[in-house]
Parts: sequence; C-alpha cells; structure tokens
Amino acid sequence: MHAGALPLTRRAIAAAAGLALASVIAPGTAHAFCRTTTVPVAADFQPRPDKCWDQGVPLFWRNSCVGYSLNRAASRQVSFEDAANGLSRAFTKWTGSSCPTEGGGASRVSIDVRDLGPAACEEVKYNQNDNNQNVIVFRDDKWTHGSGNTLALTTVTFNPETGEIYDADMEINTFDQRVTLTDPVPPDGYDFASIVTHEAGHFLGIAHSGDQRATMFANYSPGATAMRNLTADDVAGVCSVYRPDGTRAVLDGKITQGPSCDPTPRHGFTRECVEPPASGLCSKSEIAPRGPGGAVALGAAGLLGLAAAWRARRRRRRAD
Ligand SMILES: [Zn+2]
Repeated sequence: MHAGALPLTRRAIAAAAGLALASVIAPGTAHAFCRTTTVPVAADFQPRPDKCWDQGVPLFWRNSCVGYSLNRAASRQVSFEDAANGLSRAFTKWTGSSCPTEGGGASRVSIDVRDLGPAACEEVKYNQNDNNQNVIVFRDDKWTHGSGNTLALTTVTFNPETGEIYDADMEINTFDQRVTLTDPVPPDGYDFASIVTHEAGHFLGIAHSGDQRATMFANYSPGATAMRNLTADDVAGVCSVYRPDGTRAVLDGKITQGPSCDPTPRHGFTRECVEPPASGLCSKSEIAPRGPGGAVALGAAGLLGLAAAWRARRRRRRAD
C-alpha cells in the first residue's frame, strides 16, 4: 500500500539521520545505535557498528510524556510490585539520560514515561477508534511468538507515513524463560532489570545496535547484568531522537514535540480491553497487515553461548 511512496524517501532518511546525529554527537565519535523504522528489518540483516537498517522512516513518540500500564496479574516469577518498580527504573534509565548540547553543556532528553497504574487488559493491540493502553504483560502460560529462546517482545504501532508511534506493548516470556530479580543472577536465570531496560529502548523506538556492549545489542547471556545500565551508545541513541531542545529527529529534519506532558494513550485511556464492535463495518481497521518479526541478530552467538534473543516486532497501520 505504501510501497510506491516509501522507496522515494529512503535516501532522504539517510541524509536526515546523518544531520541529526551531527548535532548531538561530537565529531569523530562513532556510535552504533540504530532506530526502528517503518519498514520491517529483513530476516538476514544484522546491524553492525557502521550499518543500520536504513529503509523506511524512523519511529518516534511525538509527545513529551508517554504512559504505560503493567498488567495486574504480573507473573508467578515476578510480583506486581517488583515488576512495577523494575519497569519504572528501566524507563528512567532512558528518560534520565543526559545529552551533549550544542552549547557545550548537557541536558536531559525531552521525553518522560509514566506508569498509569495497573491494566486488566493483557492483549497486544491498538484501537484506531477507541481507548488504548500501552500494556506490559508477562506470558506465564503460553508464548506464541515462535522460538522459545525469545525473552521478550515489544510491538509498536505507528503511522507508516510519518513514523509517529501510536502505541507500544511489551510482552515478557516467563513461559519459556527463568526471569529473576535476585542478585547475583543465577547462572541459568535472566535478569529482569536487563530485559526491561532493553525492551524500554524498543518501546521508545530504538532498534538493535551493532555494539556488543550496548543494552540494545540483540543478544543477552544468562546470568549477566550489564544490560541494566545504558552505555554511551544507548544514550547517544535516545538523545538523537528525543533531543534536549524538545524536537524529534524525523525523516526530513526535525519536528517539535507535543505541546505538553500528557501521557494519555491515543484516543483515550482504558485499563480494560476494548473489543471490536459487533458490526463488521468497523472491524476492517483490525485487519491491517502485521509486519514480520524484526531481525534476531545472532552475530555473537559463538561468544554468548546460550544467549537468548530479543525480537522487536512492529505493526503497520494506515490510519490513526
Ligand atoms: Zn531487542
């Protein structure tokens, strides 16, 4: 549906991204971070320190505040309170990042992520004509997204023309994986803080990095905790999108963020799932194509041994 328009924009995107980075990163500083775009990453593509997937329009949240809602059931492995605290810390890692500014000082990124309280809904979906929630949910009883070695999955819904994110939902695979908050992390366990810090990056529109040290690197080793803390590459990524001056780096330069902090999801907030109307007339909005899964990078699989992979998946929808 957009195949005719998108190829024409690809070159422009690369140029814009280059300009955007130049304004926030000191000359000569190499960064490997990548942004999620409107075009699904090819299955065989792996980001490298000098190479991101460059097709499509980069994604961003327009508003200065975004809300999320943890599913109230939480997990048998992670209590609601622990999950809520861990998620808050994970998002704050990103939103508290200090960025270099053109004036030489540092200033905080221009986005906040707020906990809007528990959700009853556990569905990954976006309602084009009704209330929404950006839900974060554990999957204790079933994992339906292919390979069981996936730790978590964040699904982002966005405007395919502009790249503006409308909705983001995060699922954590506690069905196949042992997820833990203990410190030190057991050798066969996966650190909850590391998982959600990585997924929070996807929630904000950051893709996998080619930097093996980065929190946004695609693979993660059991027992490790390094991904709890952002590296310079991760910080450069979030700073390049949500600039301290309040603008967002987009396809053709930059745009100004939403006018105020309003974390209410698009079309209003609900803690419940909204069922599609019984009439078939309106349900066509529910059959928008879902893009294939994002690339699962296995670049360092030899080093990481039993590493599990995260996948970022995005859905495309025409309208808002
Ligand atoms: Zn990932």
